[in-house]
Order: sequence, then C-alpha cells, then structure tokens
Amino acid sequence: MKYSNLSRTQNRITLEYRRFLSKSVLRQKNFILNYHRVANNFWDPNYTTVSVDNFKRQIDYLDQNFEIVSIGHMCNLIKNKSPFHNKVCITFDDGYRSTQENAINWLASQKIPSTTYLTTALIDSSQYYWWDCLTEKLNINGPKSENLQQYRELAKEIRTATPDHRTALYSKNVKQEDSRFTAVSVDEIKDIATNPYITIGAHSVNHYSLAHQTIGIQQTEIAVSKRALEDIINKAVTHFAYPYGSRNFDYNKDTIELLKLNNFESSVITNHGRISSKSNLFELFRFGVREQELNSFIDFINEI
Ligand SMILES: [Zn+2]
Repeated sequence: MKYSNLSRTQNRITLEYRRFLSKSVLRQKNFILNYHRVANNFWDPNYTTVSVDNFKRQIDYLDQNFEIVSIGHMCNLIKNKSPFHNKVCITFDDGYRSTQENAINWLASQKIPSTTYLTTALIDSSQYYWWDCLTEKLNINGPKSENLQQYRELAKEIRTATPDHRTALYSKNVKQEDSRFTAVSVDEIKDIATNPYITIGAHSVNHYSLAHQTIGIQQTEIAVSKRALEDIINKAVTHFAYPYGSRNFDYNKDTIELLKLNNFESSVITNHGRISSKSNLFELFRFGVREQELNSFIDFINEI
C-alpha cells in the first residue's frame, strides 16, 4: 500500500472512530434541564419562557433518546457511587400556574417524571414575582422595548437586595391576575401531591438571593418553605432549588449547611454541567432551556 492510501485509510478510521466515540459519549451523559414558564405569546426579558408546542417537541425528543427520571432517582444513582448513563431530569422553578397547566400535568399524563420547585409566599396569592411586576410596570414586551435598560438595571439591584430594600425598589401596583404570572394554589398543589410522576421541591419563601441575606433569614427561608409545603402535601419535602442559583453568588457554605440541618437531600443550581456519580448533591448543575425550535434544541442537547 502506498503511503497516501495508507494515510487516507487511517483518516477514515479516525473519522469513524470519532463518530463512534461521540455517539458513545452522547449516550453516557446525564443532565438536568431547568424550565421556568411554559406559556404562549409572551416575550420574556429573562429568556425563561418556552412556548407550549416547542416544549412538547423538546420532551418528545428527550423521551426518545434518554431515560427521563425523577430527581430522587437521580440522587439515588449519585449516592450509589457507581457510573450511570443516559439519565435526564426535567425541573421547573417558580411554580407558575401556566407551567402547571401546560407542562407538568401533561408530563404526568405521559408518565414522564418532573420536579416543580415552589416559592411558598406566592402560593394561593395573586401576587406576581418582582420581575413580572417590573415587566408589566415598565411595559416590556419585546427586545426593542424602550425601558429594557431600566428593567435590567433595576433587576440587578433587586436580585441581591435585603427584604426592605427590595420592597422599596419596586411597586406591586400592577393588576395581578394573569396565569402566565401567578403561582399555583394550595388546591392545585394538593391535586398533584399524590401523583407518582411529580416531585414537589422548595424554592424558598420569598425568592431572595440567599447568600446576600443574614443567616437568620436564610434559615427562615429554607425551614419555613419546607414546612409550608409539607403541611400542604403531607409528605417530606427534601429537594431544594436555590433562588437564582448561581454558584459563588446566590448561595454560600452556610446555605448548604442549613439545607443539610433541615434534612434536605439535594439542591439544584443554575450553573451548567453534567451529572455523574461524582456530583455534589447540594450543587447539582442544570441547563436552562430557552424558547427554541426542535433543531436548535437538538444542537443544544448535543453540546451538553
Ligand atoms: Zn426562581
């Protein structure tokens, strides 16, 4: 064989080997996805809303290519310390009623597990999250909205504000009745509490960036949200999602210690990374999903 032919053969083998490798690597990965609002006709300045049709297509793709498991199952696999593959968790933050109606109930009807992390102060109230109040108040409805810069500046300040300062920074003076913004009610939580495909987790009481609060406030946010949910669903709540969830910013060592003291089993964050048997149960990486068509969603999943 001439050298050039040999070289071509080697190249082909390398290419095929790469394809094989990438396929086997793909199969090996585990990850947790993070959704917030699943609703139609809404432009979200935080890019956390996915439309209903795109959401369902994304889930169908995941269901065909991975094994979708509950957060409790993923935690058990991590605790077992032996390698595992191809597992995905679907999680929702903030407990929007629209998400419950459009996504979580649909997933349960398809026998697909998911976890919903609820912020307890908003349950059974018509109160909006501060970012939704601000979106309404500043009339933010698209990427060219006049007040978008003002929104971003205020949002940055409110995220880390103390409780009093936060109240001073935004007004709740907005008509609060749209299910794309309001949270689930006690009755709606009771309805899903016994569903084997839905896990209810805590997302604090008031959605503060916990690392920016005193230890006393951190403890209240963690313990009171856990107790309030347990009183509603009559079973232990052991999974937590840090509000905003950025590592080295929105939670700290004290937060993790308090979660352990309050008998939590896991906590998820918003930094990106895969899950493996070496994952830290109190810093579980997630990937936030944006509104996107199926093809770009597949690219996004392939890049995880
Ligand atoms: Zn949140």
